[in-house]
Amino acid sequence: MKPLKPLDEALADLLAKAAVLPDTETVVTFDADGRVLAQDCVSALQVPPNDNSSMDGYAVRCADVTAAGVALPVSQRIAAGSAGGPLLPGTVARIFTGAPVPEGADAILMQEDCEALPGAAVEADGGGQSDLGRVRLNAVPRPGQWVRRAGEDITRGAVVLQAGTRLTPAELGLAASIGLHQLQVARRPRVALFSTGDELVMPGDVPPEQMRPGAIYNSNRFFLRAMLLRLGCEVTDFGIVPDRRDATVEALRTASTLHDLILTSGGVSVGEEDHIKPAVETLGTLDLWQIAMKPGKPFAYGHIPRNGGGATHFMGLPGNPVSSFLTFALLVRPFVLRLQGVRDVAPQSIAARADFTWPKADKRREFLRVRHNAAGGLDLFHNQSSGVLTSAAWGDGVVDNPAGQTIAAGDAVRFIAFSELLS
Ligand code: AMP
Ligand code: MG
Repeated sequence: MKPLKPLDEALADLLAKAAVLPDTETVVTFDADGRVLAQDCVSALQVPPNDNSSMDGYAVRCADVTAAGVALPVSQRIAAGSAGGPLLPGTVARIFTGAPVPEGADAILMQEDCEALPGAAVEADGGGQSDLGRVRLNAVPRPGQWVRRAGEDITRGAVVLQAGTRLTPAELGLAASIGLHQLQVARRPRVALFSTGDELVMPGDVPPEQMRPGAIYNSNRFFLRAMLLRLGCEVTDFGIVPDRRDATVEALRTASTLHDLILTSGGVSVGEEDHIKPAVETLGTLDLWQIAMKPGKPFAYGHIPRNGGGATHFMGLPGNPVSSFLTFALLVRPFVLRLQGVRDVAPQSIAARADFTWPKADKRREFLRVRHNAAGGLDLFHNQSSGVLTSAAWGDGVVDNPAGQTIAAGDAVRFIAFSELLS
């Protein structure tokens, strides 16, 4: 028997086939959360645009305040959104957070360190009299204190966000901070989703007490659709395809026309009722089948040529819910991100402590559903069967356990958080 394909090799093969979708679209920055940038964002200005105060207080020349307790007249008032004039020597400027520091001032004293005194008039800009009063400065300022420097966040011409970045809320704010109200992003991958299995019933169609013997509810359809949507895909749901060769071929043929990827669950093993493999081979080619991972071994990848050129990717997930869930997270997720141009698609794993034992090693690399406990270690879900979806809902991630590896309590293991795999 041919040895199973190692997961890393399978993933590398898949990513090599995941050519980035050529078309892009423009979306308003408001709606770009989760989308993938198709272009670098270059700043046409510096942020902040000028030196400004990070406190409510007084802008001073340090040379005028060499000892605490000095009282100086207030020559101008500068609020955020306005720009003051040069600071007259021997005076201070009342200033507020975000307001530009006037020319000549080199520090801010926060208002908590100052005491407003009843006014003595001062010669104001333009020769008139201002009645802004005086202020006693009860601290000696350090040059530059409470001044946010022009360009300290972003310099002009800087690449603020790179093409291939999957945008997060903070990055939307960053794009907005350099004036970008719309962004060029990758088109959403179009994914056709269908479930196979004559035993499957949609929740809502039949109430639990009327389920016929042998029937189960279609759970895979729900998490697969949700995960695809989270990854920015457009999903066409073809529903449940019966366990017949002709129906399977027909469904694949229809789905292949307008989609970038066909994703199926179930029917991809070697049983007589498993029609996915031969159906793909009828219409196209199966490039990869069976991976050395547990759960998830029967995963399949292929492609179906399209009329008019090109091909539609095909990915067949095992029917067992946890197998489906994890093969999606570990193989489909990086693939659909790469279609959108994301460069780094590998989930981050971190070292963690096992607070459980796993005495029986497996020949395949295993992904165990675990959860952090209050002591900072990992607990294992008591049932690791590939049919027990509760393990995935209960867990906050998986232990990535190498083939042939047992685990003793206290061992260091590799943990991959679901936040890395599902978002
Ligand atoms: P299969 O891969 O088709 O042999 O299915 C393996 C197991 O997963 C069987 O017990 C199926 O009943 C179950 N299964 C297949 N598809 C689904 C689904 N969409 N939702 C829940 N269970 C499923
Ligand atoms: Mg089946």
